Amino acid sequence: MDVAAGLSLLAQATGIVKNMREIDKSFDVAAIKAQMAELYSTLADVKIAFSDAREAIHERDQKIKELESKIDVITSGEACPICNEGRMKVASSRKHPQFGFAGVQERTLQCEKCSHFEKRLHDPSGVTKNNR
Ligand SMILES: [Zn+2]
Repeated sequence: MDVAAGLSLLAQATGIVKNMREIDKSFDVAAIKAQMAELYSTLADVKIAFSDAREAIHERDQKIKELESKIDVITSGEACPICNEGRMKVASSRKHPQFGFAGVQERTLQCEKCSHFEKRLHDPSGVTKNNR
């Protein structure tokens, strides 16, 4: 059950209380008892619905935390393709032998966790794009 189910059960409980008020005027004890029993069971369902909802919210919070930390990794540097946990950081950088004049660099990126490394071209103006 979820919050929506809990709210509709609460509306149901409110309706029962309303009925009981009507019965109260005629002092029908049996009818009041029956309504009381229905009220208790409805309220028990409300309790279940909201504790289920609380659990679902808790699970979602955990998931959000997980995703936030993944986003952190992705946005503050490239995620390592090997371990998927570390970030790829530039370990060294040198001028490209042919395209260095145009600002092209050869970079070595290394994972801060598993120390996997890759070579990359850093080509901010795209001068090597046609050669690939
Ligand atoms: Zn790694």
